[in-house]
Amino acid sequence: MSDQKGFVLWFTGLSGAGKTSIATPLSEQLKARGLKIERLDGDVVRQSLTRDLGFSKEDRDKNIERVTFVAKLLSRNEVGVLASFISPYRETRAMIKSETTNFIEVFVHAPLEVCAERDVKGMYAKAFAGEIENFTGVSDPYEEPLNPDVLLNTHEETIEESIAKCVAYLEENGYIPAS
Ligand code: ADP
Repeated sequence: MSDQKGFVLWFTGLSGAGKTSIATPLSEQLKARGLKIERLDGDVVRQSLTRDLGFSKEDRDKNIERVTFVAKLLSRNEVGVLASFISPYRETRAMIKSETTNFIEVFVHAPLEVCAERDVKGMYAKAFAGEIENFTGVSDPYEEPLNPDVLLNTHEETIEESIAKCVAYLEENGYIPAS
């Protein structure tokens, strides 16, 4: 029997804040420790499970609803879920928390200027030029978590430091065995 509990490490933050860059290596580290881990990532899910949806409030809600359903099934069966979605609305995040087992809100934070400067996917330039509607942080709201379980300031810390904070949280709260 594994000492692992099911949990949902939910990475929320602006595009380019670092959600994927942190969740991907973190998931590899946890798997290397023999833990059962699944990743749910916004960009990947939108090419499969929710390919039919766009970015209006209604579609964003549907996107998260389907993902929440998957996270619920996994987390109640002792799987650790690492989910990275902009998930801009507080109310939506509260819903996910109420539906899943051991929900942990991770606020991946960097100022908008830093995310726009990184412009990983070239999207901010287009958004500022008015070419993309409903772009979070530019032409759509992002409601910052008021009391996140884990706060990662990616403009001030390295990816390794951010990963270490998540691992420490999981260990200190008994979701995974101490290494
Ligand atoms: P998101 O998944 O939130 O849209 P990405 O992970 O795709 O963001 O992009 C974040 C970008 O910021 C990457 O190019 C990454 O290398 C860079 N970056 C710089 N410093 C950090 C850090 N401390 N944590 C995470 N990402 C960082």
